[in-house]
Amino acid sequence: MGRRRKSRGRHRGHGCWACGRARPNERFGGRGHGQHLCNECSRLGADELEVRQAALEVDRCLGAGGLIQRKAWRRFEPLLAHPNPRARELVVRALTEDRIERVRRRAEDLLEMMRIDAADEEGLFLHVVRARDEP
Ligand SMILES: [Zn+2]
Repeated sequence: MGRRRKSRGRHRGHGCWACGRARPNERFGGRGHGQHLCNECSRLGADELEVRQAALEVDRCLGAGGLIQRKAWRRFEPLLAHPNPRARELVVRALTEDRIERVRRRAEDLLEMMRIDAADEEGLFLHVVRARDEP
């Protein structure tokens, strides 16, 4: 994980990890520069930065469907014990949403199976009725 190449083309400067904005070099000063933290965000305070850092880490654990990826669980689980209460709350919320979404998907699958069963039964019934009515 080396430093980014200088010739990235599209813009000078780099992205701030805390606000996600791509900013020119002038917007990074002092310590913030090496940490890829812009001047505005470097004034946010430790608590807010911890929360944002945790949000990024949670984000990296999510797959395209918004679910926590199985392979990311090893990274996600320790975040549940985050020392910062606001960060912890955010992590717990992500887990809750993951669980609700998984249950919802399972329920949808079940419903779909029931629909198929019901359609099968109806089909069988019509088949029997037709067989009965045919001469
Ligand atoms: Zn920023």
